[in-house]
Amino acid sequence: MDSFTGLSFQTLLNAVSDAILLIDGSGHIVLTNAAAQQLFDYADHEFCGLEIEELIPPHYRDLYQHYREVYLGKPWKRDMGNDRTLVVLTRDKQELKVNISLNPLTAHDRLYILITLNITDRRRHAEVALKTSEERLWLAKQAAALGVLDFYFEHNVMHLDKRMRELWGCGADEVMTHEKFLRAIHPKDYVIHQTAFEKAIDPAGDGKYLAEFRVINPVDGSERWIIITGQVHFELERANRLVGMARDITKRKMLEKELQMHRAETEVLFKQQVAIHTASAIAHELNQPLTAISAYSEVALRAMESDTFSTDEVRRVLESCVKQSQHAGQRLHELVAFLQKGEVVTEKPSLNEVVMDALKIARSDGYNDFHPVLQLEPNLPAVLANRLHIQKTLVNLLRNAVESMRAANVSTSAVTITVRTLNEKNLAMVSILDSGPGVDQKIAKYIFDPFFTTKPTGIGMGLSISRALIEANGGQLWLDPDTREGAKFNFTLPFAL
Ligand code: ADP
Repeated sequence: MDSFTGLSFQTLLNAVSDAILLIDGSGHIVLTNAAAQQLFDYADHEFCGLEIEELIPPHYRDLYQHYREVYLGKPWKRDMGNDRTLVVLTRDKQELKVNISLNPLTAHDRLYILITLNITDRRRHAEVALKTSEERLWLAKQAAALGVLDFYFEHNVMHLDKRMRELWGCGADEVMTHEKFLRAIHPKDYVIHQTAFEKAIDPAGDGKYLAEFRVINPVDGSERWIIITGQVHFELERANRLVGMARDITKRKMLEKELQMHRAETEVLFKQQVAIHTASAIAHELNQPLTAISAYSEVALRAMESDTFSTDEVRRVLESCVKQSQHAGQRLHELVAFLQKGEVVTEKPSLNEVVMDALKIARSDGYNDFHPVLQLEPNLPAVLANRLHIQKTLVNLLRNAVESMRAANVSTSAVTITVRTLNEKNLAMVSILDSGPGVDQKIAKYIFDPFFTTKPTGIGMGLSISRALIEANGGQLWLDPDTREGAKFNFTLPFAL
């Protein structure tokens, strides 16, 4: 105690953190400490002689007076706690709820009461606020199924919350170390964590940790996908702590895997479709020359078997055969070039010229038994399209027109080709009208389907390829439903502005 000699009573009082007021029997303040002066915002000399009622809000004064009288009638020591609170008034009229204890003291036959006040309100508010925010955090964590980890590098101790411990198969009392943490990571994913960790602890970086990896629960062997986002804290340029949140993303990963498998299957299907379409396109291109070659060969054979065998006639027939096979080769060549190109190369051809080219090709392919009636619009602006695509479409439509007229033995085999401007839509339109029997209404809706054909040697790809080509060039191809005689096919193309 010697070391305290010289310390005044007031100094000791001021060292107490609770506010202390000493009042006499008449309710006047005789002594206060620094905590009380701070709490009420009164100076020491202002407190002296002040009536204690001054520190009570007016609406509580009557009640307080009553309590004081009862207490002074039989004073006893009343400890703090058990919610014995009192509302007091500070200098700036702020009401504070305080916890009080009362101690009666007698000195020189006079009664004094030592009042100790503890600011319950502020502490309680802080406690309640902390509890609320902790509860909110807990609720958010629960809702998002989040786990929390806090790793102090120096002591190699990892604090894991309940959810984290469940994921890592770690008992509630078990101490978690970095080694144990790493052991649960799937061997194939270990490098993912390690790379992210090394990046995060680099003092030159931003300390952010982000990694997705699989964790194998050492207790039941189950495998889960986990994503951890965290922040490394540095002290004196050294990483010393990682705080992170972990989320179980197993469901999402499973869905992704399923989606991937589904995509792979769709890709296979798509490739099959492309293969089928390519094979069909090749067959479509070869069908006509092969049919012609077969027909010419039969003629040649019959000519050689006949009595009036003429070398010239056989030569002519065989020359036609050679021509057809050269055609077939050329067609294949064009087709391969077309398929290899992939994207649509747009040019600015004149539709009238493309129509003339297509007529020439059709004729040279053996489709010359018809009278073309041309209704071309003079000075038609150029269209924005691939010349070869339009040419192929026109040749297909001309071939179909001739084939239908041939099959029906039509005498006036005229094919009218009209090229005009659709002013209202700012498009060019081409129509091909034949003098054949037309398309039966019952089958009209199927004729653009791949492999739909009514011809004995047909493949059913001409119209579906033609429509695809026109659409690839920004136009449309359709069968005119209002045509009474013959079949009329229309297609549109945008002008090159
Ligand atoms: P393919 O010519 O190999 O049959 P397309 O796709 O070119 O294949 O034609 C499909 C079907 O549409 C034809 O089989 C035919 O029934 C019908 N068709 C096409 N053009 C005409 C036409 N101008 N007149 C009548 N029917 C036609």
